[in-house]
Amino acid sequence: MLELPNIGFNNYPTSTLANKSNYSVLSKDMTSRTASTICQFSSSIMLNPGCHKLKRKSKHLSPIPLIDLTADIENIHEVVSENLIVGISKEYLDHGDQIVVCQTCRAKLWTNESIRGKQKKSTNFSLCCGYGKVQLPDLKKAPPTYERMFQSNDCKSKNFRKNIRRYNSMFSFTSMGGKIDSSINRGNAPYIFRLGGQNYHSIGSLLPAKGLQPKFSQLYIYDTDNENSNRQRCFRGENQQSTSFDNDIIEELKVMLDSNNVLVSSYRMVRDAFQKNPHIDMKLRIIGKRNRDGRTYNLPTASEVAALIVGDISDSIENRDIVVQTKSGFLQRISELHPSYLPLQYPLLFPYGDDGYSVDILHRGITDTTNSKRATCTMREFFAFRIQDRDHSFSLILNSKRLFQQFLVDAYTMIESERLHYIRRQQHVLRCESYENLRKQKAQGATSISNVGQRVILPSSFTGGARYMLQNYLDAMSLCKWYGYPDFFITFTCNPKWPEVKRFLKDTLLQPEDRPDILCRLFKIKLDAFIKDLRKNHIFGIVQAVVYTIEFQKRGLPHSHICLFMHSDYKLPTVELIDPIISAEIPNKDEDPELYSLVNEFMIHGPCGAENINCPCMVDKKCSKNFPKQFCNHTSVDQDGFPLYRRRNNGHFVEKSGVKLDNRNVVPYNKYLLKRYQTHINVEWCNQGSSIKYLFKYINKGPDRATIAVVRSNNDCDNHDVVDEINEYYDCRYLSACEASWRIFTYDVHYRYPSVVRLPFHLPGQQQIVYGEDDDIDDVLDKPSVAASMFTAWMECNVISSDARKLTYVEFPTKFVWNRKDRFWKPREVGKCIGRIHSVSPNLEEAYFLRILLNKVKGPRSFEEIRTVNGEEYLSFRDACYALGLLDDDKEYIDAIKEASHSGSGFYLRFLFATLLMCNSMSKPEVVWENTWEYLADGILYNQRQRLKLSGIKILLLLFI
Ligand SMILES: [Zn+2]
Ligand SMILES: [Zn+2]
Repeated sequence: MLELPNIGFNNYPTSTLANKSNYSVLSKDMTSRTASTICQFSSSIMLNPGCHKLKRKSKHLSPIPLIDLTADIENIHEVVSENLIVGISKEYLDHGDQIVVCQTCRAKLWTNESIRGKQKKSTNFSLCCGYGKVQLPDLKKAPPTYERMFQSNDCKSKNFRKNIRRYNSMFSFTSMGGKIDSSINRGNAPYIFRLGGQNYHSIGSLLPAKGLQPKFSQLYIYDTDNENSNRQRCFRGENQQSTSFDNDIIEELKVMLDSNNVLVSSYRMVRDAFQKNPHIDMKLRIIGKRNRDGRTYNLPTASEVAALIVGDISDSIENRDIVVQTKSGFLQRISELHPSYLPLQYPLLFPYGDDGYSVDILHRGITDTTNSKRATCTMREFFAFRIQDRDHSFSLILNSKRLFQQFLVDAYTMIESERLHYIRRQQHVLRCESYENLRKQKAQGATSISNVGQRVILPSSFTGGARYMLQNYLDAMSLCKWYGYPDFFITFTCNPKWPEVKRFLKDTLLQPEDRPDILCRLFKIKLDAFIKDLRKNHIFGIVQAVVYTIEFQKRGLPHSHICLFMHSDYKLPTVELIDPIISAEIPNKDEDPELYSLVNEFMIHGPCGAENINCPCMVDKKCSKNFPKQFCNHTSVDQDGFPLYRRRNNGHFVEKSGVKLDNRNVVPYNKYLLKRYQTHINVEWCNQGSSIKYLFKYINKGPDRATIAVVRSNNDCDNHDVVDEINEYYDCRYLSACEASWRIFTYDVHYRYPSVVRLPFHLPGQQQIVYGEDDDIDDVLDKPSVAASMFTAWMECNVISSDARKLTYVEFPTKFVWNRKDRFWKPREVGKCIGRIHSVSPNLEEAYFLRILLNKVKGPRSFEEIRTVNGEEYLSFRDACYALGLLDDDKEYIDAIKEASHSGSGFYLRFLFATLLMCNSMSKPEVVWENTWEYLADGILYNQRQRLKLSGIKILLLLFI
């Protein structure tokens, strides 16, 4: 028997299993309004600043880490003494401070970060320098008077830091190409830098075109007698009210850059040359190659960064060089691989013009002669290294507040755009090797491949793309196939005022939002601990499977949606058992003041409705999360299977913005977890088929979009429009600094336990057309047959292993492990894993029938054995399916539709059904219809309910026969 933490499990049964009839406890006063709880997951409630003004706490309560995003006052921490910053509850799981120092790069880490994925006895870590692999020179210490502006509290320094993004733009040489989403910064909330679309930096010609005012780099050259006012003018246009620029600051920055920055010196050289001879045709070559070791050297001299060219361009131009024309009248995009890319955009962060990233920085200990792509520092490694706090050094970047947010977003878009460039260049290989499965079997002939060549593919190995989302979603659904539906749905959010964050910021002039990297790192530490509590410490009992996804709210903070699949002994068989685990009530203030203040702080929805019509939850004058709920004396389950939690009318209330809120406004929570993690944690019980789909839809916003992409590609042959998945990706991508940091640190966006192995397969003799290929794109390109060999190696393993012969392909990974390096399957010794075979559309015929057989046939040693039934070998997989009786009753088609229903959209299912009708595959379409119409109708009801804001409506099926 397990030791369970004391959270009310005293009466917990371990044997009796769920009996569905127990669930039908419907409350009498249930109305159609309360019955719909689909959208009640309220991840953003507590974090929304517009929702409520925060009240001062009564004195006897310890200070609460408010999620107060309304204040932007500096230095509130100065008066707080160290020992005050602790958790509210003694149960609070405090992760301490950054006490570990990397012995190689001197980065400071939290203990939990230092033990994550630890290599034995290592004194360096993955997070900062990739276990010592990454070696970069320190950035040169900034001039003292300049550095002081980042550290002192006088008015001028404050003005500088508050407007640092604008001061930087005033001096930057290049402009940014992404769309900055400023709509998000209305109101009093802290500033969030959010960027949409594709990002790039552009540089203008040396002089403005005739009649135009100078901008960016031109300000260093043109009309420099009026330089300061020119710089101001550029920015006053952007925001009429911003008269807050300090002339002294601009002058000081100018002097500082003039005397230190090598890029500025180069531009001043151009100015001087033009002053001598205004009609000269001059170009500036910004040099893209350094001849010194990037591991120890990043301070180029003026002659190393740029050269003036008078007259024709000579042969000395290298392809990474930027050549700036005298007067071109247009902006030229510059490569993110240029070493001056960052200093050109961020002169205030690189005051000397220090080099940024370049492609040829080798890893530690590697010599020039090593000829391997993996021996050089990647862009991601470069940034992960640069954004660390180190012992005894002060980083301008990390202390640049809004500019740091911009820097992070810019950094991640650089990483991403380089990767997308690479994917775009490799399209021909991608199309031929791995994505044929998306096309009709007929189109496999060499003649039509060129047709498909039009499509630009974003492979599923690209994190965040539509195919990636779909594959992850299907992985999660395959866990459902093994373990049933999840039992708990938990939303775990980041609290920017965790005691650890407060202590970290205590001696700085920064606010939580100024360090999105730290917020992400602490959220990751907490989330790992949370998952460990659930999985290893059995907070809710034994867990069989966990799935989570990370999302970033519009305002940037991360949160996670977690689905828990409980062991059958720990599923909740009756609704009464929900109460000890999930509460939706305000606790008694005197009995448990800690819990009371936590619930008050983190678990109250609203006020919304008439009291606060502008609350973000309000859609069409109704709370989209259906608050306030009804009072309810006992927990019950409504007709759709959603729980209605106990909310007694017991007089308990909290006050928010002068409005009294009672149990009807409590977001369901778990007492122990709330005390232990001190943040908004919404715990919901869910164990019904009807809800799972919406839960997964909710955690995977991708599938619908992904499915549409797949549907379109099925039509490739008839569709002459070019579908560019890379552009589509850019179009809908918005990025904030938290998400950028999360990705720079390569934290998981999706997590699954047990892991799911995607099993590829192919038809005989067609190894080049692999169904379900999903390797990392580099592997696909380097070794096109990896996936093919995974499938054939399975059959080879069946030849030699009698254990293997007892399993179907999909069962195989439970007992065997794929050795990626040497490409063979070996018996599994540790860990848990399940398999998933890529699904293919029935109109792919033989591939479709092969897949059906792969789900049934145990231990075949060859393709022939797969299509052998009762000793007789059939000519085709289709015939073998018929011989096995799999197709007589169209059951496989019914299963295919049911299975496809996992991928989200009813629209897609109806499309699939129509396809089956058109190609005459089904022997009795009406039987298939009868068995699947509910799936086919999926989404229609949901959409209508959403549209009409009525939760009680039902589909009335009329069959005209
Ligand atoms: Zn390190
Ligand atoms: Zn509301």
